[in-house]
Amino acid sequence: MRQQGFVLWLTGLSGAGKTTIARSLEQELRSRNQLVEVLDGDVVRSQLCQDLGFSRRDRDINIRRIGFVANLLSRNGVATIVSAVSPYREIRDELRQSVNHFIEVYVNAPLEVCESRDVKGLYAKARSGEIKSFTGIDSPYEPPIHPEITCYTAEETLGESTAKILRTLEQMELIAVADRRFILESSNAQKRGRPNSIYLWVTEEISMPRQENLGFGGAIAVRFRVFWSRFWALARLARVGRFAR
Ligand code: ADP
Repeated sequence: MRQQGFVLWLTGLSGAGKTTIARSLEQELRSRNQLVEVLDGDVVRSQLCQDLGFSRRDRDINIRRIGFVANLLSRNGVATIVSAVSPYREIRDELRQSVNHFIEVYVNAPLEVCESRDVKGLYAKARSGEIKSFTGIDSPYEPPIHPEITCYTAEETLGESTAKILRTLEQMELIAVADRRFILESSNAQKRGRPNSIYLWVTEEISMPRQENLGFGGAIAVRFRVFWSRFWALARLARVGRFAR
């Protein structure tokens, strides 16, 4: 079956998590044998759009160029992930009309959170005036009104955001429905705290085939943990007295 192309357009403030989510999705889609390309706003600016600045006009041209390339890829069956601030609603809506299978993902984190992350030190520079027209500080960001997906990265884990996007792509029949176990694994990778026994039962089963490099001792340890967690799961199911609490 020929792979369906689409463009996942990740928009949001600098530091909201677009690049991080894009890379996580790239990895997941590749592991499903999907052709994937990531167009990162910063990388594109250093190559295709070196001539452009940050005026409204230049920003629009930048986004149109990225949209043009993304559309070509999408039309040829590539799962294309764009990670770009793309602050203006009008131009994003324009792309929605012209790009093959355009899916808007709002990577939503409050300005204070993005500023406290300050991944590239740009907020500090914007506050000190070293950088002008910085989105969120002295240049506007217009959030999407009806995005297909919103990832609240101050509240969700990276795994949860990734799983949410994959689930939507599956529902839209743009990617095949994966073995649920892999989705569980990815969404669980970031989870904190102690999962319940049944959860552990499932997830341990998933991660086992990926533990080839553990060596003999490691493999025994993993199998022992699997056995132990399954014992607890069964005990819980059977409500066996105090063992199952
Ligand atoms: P952007 O590409 O939007 O500028 P980055 O992905 O470069 O943002 O940086 C986002 C930062 O936020 C990273 O350091 C990442 O580890 C962190 N982060 C914390 N929680 C999340 C989350 N749920 N999703 C994505 N990134 C997160």
